[in-house]
Parts: sequence; C-alpha cells; structure tokens
Amino acid sequence: MDEATGLVRGGDHGSFVDSDPLVGRIVVSAEEIGARVAELGAEISKDYSGRPPLLVGVLKGAFVFMADLARAITLPLELDFMAVSSYGAATKTSGVVRIVKDLDLDLTGRHVIVVEDIVDSGLTLAYLRKSLLARGPESLAICTLLQKSGQQRTDFDVDYVGFEIPPEFVIGYGLDVAEEYRNLPDLRVYLAGEPE
Ligand code: 5GP
Repeated sequence: MDEATGLVRGGDHGSFVDSDPLVGRIVVSAEEIGARVAELGAEISKDYSGRPPLLVGVLKGAFVFMADLARAITLPLELDFMAVSSYGAATKTSGVVRIVKDLDLDLTGRHVIVVEDIVDSGLTLAYLRKSLLARGPESLAICTLLQKSGQQRTDFDVDYVGFEIPPEFVIGYGLDVAEEYRNLPDLRVYLAGEPE
C-alpha cells in the first residue's frame, strides 16, 4: 500500500481491487476478523449455554459474518434471514426502513440474536429491534461486526461488537457499494466516501 495516498498497490493482496483507485487501506484484515469472530463465537456459546439461539441475519451485508459466526458457535442453533431496504436518502435521518424479505421462522419464545454487518447511526437497527421485539421473543440480543465510533443516535446497547471503527465508509467481508466488493476478504476504506 502507498502510505501517502492510502491506495492499494499491486501485489499487496493479489486481489481484484489492487488496481482499483477507489479502494483504500485495510481497516480490519481477514486475519483480525477471523480471530475476533472466534472470540465472539466463544462468548456467545458461553452466554447461551442451555438456551440455543436463533440467529437472524440482516441481508445482504451480514451474510459473510453470519456464516463465519454461526460456525464459531459451539451450540445447536437455528438461522433465519431478513432483508431491509432504505427509503432513499431520507433514511439517513429518519431510520425508516422497509422489510423486503421477512423471516420464515416464528420468534415466539425464542432467544434471538440479530446479526448485523455495521451499526452507523443505529437507526436501521432501532427500527428492526422494535419490529422484532413485537413478535414475542424470549430474549433479543444484537451482534454487529462493526460499530462506527461516536455515530450512534439510539438509546440501546449493542450486546456484541466485533470492532469499533472510525466513521469512514468501508467495504468488503459482505459490505458493498452498489453490490460490488462484497467478496473482499478484508474490510477496506472506500475512498470515494459514502455513495449518494
Ligand atoms: P445506520 O442505520 O446504522 O445509520 O446504517 C446501517 C446500514 O447502513 C448498514 O446496515 C449498512 O447497510 C449501511 N452502512 C453504514 N455504514 C456503512 C459503511 O461504512 N459501509 C457500507 N458498505 N455500508 C454501510
């Protein structure tokens, strides 16, 4: 990587982004993610011993994290997915999201863990949390891979956080820009910033 510009140079990773001028430095490497996901899995396995959890993954961003986290948990568990989409730019402030794909499973009496990719303002999560709590789970916890430091505008705590990161727009490990870059093994900065 070129230290001055933060640009990824050829040979750093042998990845298709090596020549992409919009892809910057590694924020969290694949190795660091692997180690932290193992820790989160161990922590959840301890906390949920005797009460198997139902992991609810939020598509599409959480799909990679969900796959790794589920395999790091040493308990019987079930998985389900939901997909949400923002109501255009207004979502940034209002936090109103639309459920595009709902869950297949009933949450009544279940120990639910919502698995998210990233919490920025927290407004998406606030909406999801409220919607899921209304379905009568026995308990509801939240596990996010990333939390942007100092950005939250919500009044609840996230139970499990993989990494606190600075408020920069990141891609990789499931996170995209216009559906691209989800298959990058590391989390990297997107140098063009947040897309409109
Ligand atoms: P919030 O409602 O917490 O402000 O935003 C949460 C959603 O915005 C995430 O689930 C994700 O879809 C998107 N988002 C927020 N920050 C980033 C980022 O740095 N990179 C990407 N790819 N998506 C982000």
